[in-house]
Amino acid sequence: MKVTVLGSGSRGNAVLIESDGVRLLVDAGFSGRDLERRLAAVEVDPSSLTALLVTHDHSDHTRGMGVAARRWGLPLYLTDKTRTVCRDLLDGSEEVRAYSSATEVEIGGLVVTPFLTVHDAVDPVAVTVTERATGEKLGIATDLGRATAPVRHALQGCDILVLESNHDEILLRESPYPWSVKARIGGSHGHLSNRAAAELVRELHHDGLCAVILAHLSEQANDPALAHDVVAEALGRRYRGTLQVATQEHPLEPIDVSAKRTARLPVQTTLF
Ligand SMILES: [Zn+2]
Ligand SMILES: [Zn+2]
Repeated sequence: MKVTVLGSGSRGNAVLIESDGVRLLVDAGFSGRDLERRLAAVEVDPSSLTALLVTHDHSDHTRGMGVAARRWGLPLYLTDKTRTVCRDLLDGSEEVRAYSSATEVEIGGLVVTPFLTVHDAVDPVAVTVTERATGEKLGIATDLGRATAPVRHALQGCDILVLESNHDEILLRESPYPWSVKARIGGSHGHLSNRAAAELVRELHHDGLCAVILAHLSEQANDPALAHDVVAEALGRRYRGTLQVATQEHPLEPIDVSAKRTARLPVQTTLF
C-alpha cells in the first residue's frame, strides 16, 4: 500500500491510497484544478483514480468532491446525512454510494472501516484503510474533537497514522482568532492539540508502527517544528519509524508501507 498526503490543513485535505491498481482518494478539500495539480506533482493521472470517500461535510474536505466525481467518473462514497447537507456540491449526475459508520466498505483489495468522531460536523467519521492481501493498516484521523475510546480502539495496530495535531494550546490562546473560534477549535468537538496528539500516539505506539504523519495543523495557532517535537518526545527512543508533518501547500512524498515494514524487520540471524 502506498499513501500520499496531497495536502492538509484548514484550507483543504486529501489523502491518496494506492494498492494493486486501486487508487482511492479520501476527502477532496481542494478545487478540481488544485487536486489535478497535486496529483500531477506525484505523477498520478486523475482519470486513473478508482473512488472518492468523503469523511464529513466541512468544506476543507468536500470542496472538490462534486467536480472530481463528475470529471473523473468516480464513485463517491458519502454517508446519507453528509450527502444531504452537501447537496449544493452535487448536480445529481454523480454516482453516489452510501456508507455508514456501521459497515466496512470494500474498494478493490482495500477495506475501509469508518468510525464515528465527536467533531462538530453533521455526520463526522474517521477511517482506517486495510490492504486485504498484506494486512497493512492505515489510520486517517483528523477533525477528531477529542480522542474518544472508540477512536482509540479503531486506530490500534496501524502501520501508518495520519493524525491530527492541530494547535498548540498557548499559541491558540495568543492567536488573533475571535474568542468564539478559539473556543470551537480548542473545545471537545473541534480539533486535537499537539499535546492530545502526543498522548494518543504514545498510546497507539506498537512495534509495527512505521510512519506517523501529523496533519491538519493550524496556520495561526501552531508551528510545524513544535508539533513535531512534542509528538517525537512522546514516541521516544523506542520508535524506529518516520515522523513527518503534512503541509497545506504541497503533497508529501508517497510512503510505500511495505518497503517501510521491510526496513523495520530485525536482521535475520542464524544460530548454527
Ligand atoms: Zn472538519
Ligand atoms: Zn478539516
